[in-house]
Amino acid sequence: MEETVIADPLPSAPGAERYPALDLANSAVTLPGGQRLDLLDTPAGAERWLVDRGLAPVDTGMQELCASLLRSLRDHVRALLAAHAAGRPAPADALTALNDALTRAPAASLLRWDPDRGLYRETAHPVARIVEHALAVLAADTADLLTGPDADRLTACGSTPCNRYLLRHGRRHWCSVRCGDRARAARAYARRTAAAAPHLRGTTTPPDGTRPPRTRL
Ligand SMILES: [Zn+2]
Repeated sequence: MEETVIADPLPSAPGAERYPALDLANSAVTLPGGQRLDLLDTPAGAERWLVDRGLAPVDTGMQELCASLLRSLRDHVRALLAAHAAGRPAPADALTALNDALTRAPAASLLRWDPDRGLYRETAHPVARIVEHALAVLAADTADLLTGPDADRLTACGSTPCNRYLLRHGRRHWCSVRCGDRARAARAYARRTAAAAPHLRGTTTPPDGTRPPRTRL
């Protein structure tokens, strides 16, 4: 059977309401059952995502190129968050891409002249300007997140297969109630399996190939 589109995606991860960069990183999520939800996979989806966050006006008319720029920045932001959360060095290509987005802020409108109009100012392609502005804002927010007071709380969701990031509160390191429930269910299942079959201690794979009990996403 085909997997259906998730009508009720996960709620925002803790911290994502304050940091659009975190929201951007979490805009593609891996869900149980091998499903993947990408809010930026079409130009219309990318535009809606930007409009919802006040980063683009309604009816911007984004093209695939714009959406792919946003997805590309997301890849680099995720690489930086992953490295930071794991205590690894920041990847050089991600740093370069982030700094490119930061400094490629919209150019000033240029001075033009033609015989009919005389001198006039001309802005670059408006959609390109909107997207460049959005990329610059998201890149700046990523830099703020990674160097600000909340940087130490940045963590990856601890519930397989979720790949979202969040700002940790206390010991909680799940991005959502659903992820917490699923992780607890998996732990309980592993404990039961280990108790029932001591020779399998340390593994969560049952001997008969059955799967752990399914929980909600
Ligand atoms: Zn999660």
